[in-house]
Amino acid sequence: MTRVSPYTECKLQVTSINIYYIKSPMHEWALAEGVISTATGFAEENNLKEVTEVVVMIGELQQVEHDVLEFAFQQLKTPLFKNAEFILKSQPAKFKCRNCGNEWSFKAQGLTEDISEAIHFVPEMAHVYIKCTQCESPDFEVTEGRGVWLATITGVKKDE
Ligand SMILES: [Zn+2]
Repeated sequence: MTRVSPYTECKLQVTSINIYYIKSPMHEWALAEGVISTATGFAEENNLKEVTEVVVMIGELQQVEHDVLEFAFQQLKTPLFKNAEFILKSQPAKFKCRNCGNEWSFKAQGLTEDISEAIHFVPEMAHVYIKCTQCESPDFEVTEGRGVWLATITGVKKDE
């Protein structure tokens, strides 16, 4: 007779949950609260008694201090997260030209370090320094690399 262990780990994909999508510098503590409360709701809906891992994606152009955010998670976590690991991953920025349709990455732009830093600090600066790598048009959209969202939550299911 096979018995299904209630301790089987269950990994849930939650890429559709956007936590924040704002242009100005954000408060890491507010962000940590948003992640924990969203993950708590998700754990309840999915019958998890314990969360073991939370993966948070952070856009390259989103100004977030990873150290501060990690510290905030440790301070704010509830018993549901007592053994949880919070993993922060960076999503590289991508741009798409509205003129010729060319797509390119932040790295491909070949900017100096000073300018790269200025853009990370104030994402709006991107439109001052970044031009299409193919036709040099300044008319482009940022298709990836902004916002913060939950990528996956891993946890242990409650006994049925
Ligand atoms: Zn172009």
